[in-house]
Amino acid sequence: MFHVEHSDCNGWAGKFDVLGSFPRGSLSFSTILAMILGMSPEPRPTRIIAVANQKGGVGKTTTTINLGSSMAEEGHRILIIDLDPQANATTGIGVNSRDLEHSIYHVILEQATASAVRRSTDIPNLDFLPSSQALVGAEIELVAAFSREHRLKRALAEIVDDYDIVLIDCPPALGLLTVNALVVASEVLVPIQCEYYALEGLGQLVENVDRVKAHLNPDLEVSTIALVMYDARTKLSEQVAGEVRAFFGSKVCRQVIPRSVGLSEASSYGQPINVYDPRSRGAVAYRELAREVLHGPAPSGENMLMDDEINGLESGPEEVWT
Ligand code: ATP
Ligand code: MG
Repeated sequence: MFHVEHSDCNGWAGKFDVLGSFPRGSLSFSTILAMILGMSPEPRPTRIIAVANQKGGVGKTTTTINLGSSMAEEGHRILIIDLDPQANATTGIGVNSRDLEHSIYHVILEQATASAVRRSTDIPNLDFLPSSQALVGAEIELVAAFSREHRLKRALAEIVDDYDIVLIDCPPALGLLTVNALVVASEVLVPIQCEYYALEGLGQLVENVDRVKAHLNPDLEVSTIALVMYDARTKLSEQVAGEVRAFFGSKVCRQVIPRSVGLSEASSYGQPINVYDPRSRGAVAYRELAREVLHGPAPSGENMLMDDEINGLESGPEEVWT
């Protein structure tokens, strides 16, 4: 399930001793051979990950921003696309969508190019394509449009090779915008909130992914399930996590994301958690989740934030968490 062939993208100097610095399983045979022979490894295709769950408020945007920022911190070239008219990822990155002349809306409607609309951020290696409320209209305006499901794919073609990973923050619906994300994506990451009714509606999401796979994008897979807003003080979080693991098996990341005030504070300050509070539990957990999505789980779970740490050991009030 995890794409272990995706190696660290920092580049290398063709020396044997660098091999030891890569996580086990993170290098493909052809990459290692190329390193030994002193050749440049083949460029890897960009992984395009749609972060989707049609349920609202389950942590899609928080996961997109913090996963993207953690991956950028590791040296990977990341593009975040805000495909939600609510523009929460745009705000969460610190940009007011009202100040923008152009957004992903104009890109999808072919009124601006992706390269003109994308913006860099203060975080090295992290770019983003902002959204705006105008995107609400796109669902309707595209109804009669030619090749309406492929608009995003066509628009991204000119810039996609600039990135190792593209993360698309989908809206809480399974409409045309989400379909556009599923058509261009190679994989789907589903954040699941460790709360009541966590699995509700997931069947519908999986069915939609299968439908897009059958008719529009044969390579599409639900590759990753991320358990978020995990509260280790409640039996409920543990039960939900258990049910999700029983249902989705090894697609579920080992690292869970704790419910943490720091994560919601960070987005209200327009910063990813690794900038807002790099040593907080949320930052540590998203950093490890990013490594898992990039390289597969650590062999011994050595970097994982464990349940007792998530719990804060003393089980203090949630407010003391950062
Ligand atoms: P929507 O469906 O509306 O787009 P979403 O699925 O993108 O929502 P988010 O916006 O990421 O969900 O999160 C919903 C709310 O929960 C936000 O206020 C966010 O700050 C908060 N939140 C997300 N993850 C956590 C967490 N791990 N701990 C605490 N709060 C969180
Ligand atoms: Mg959102």
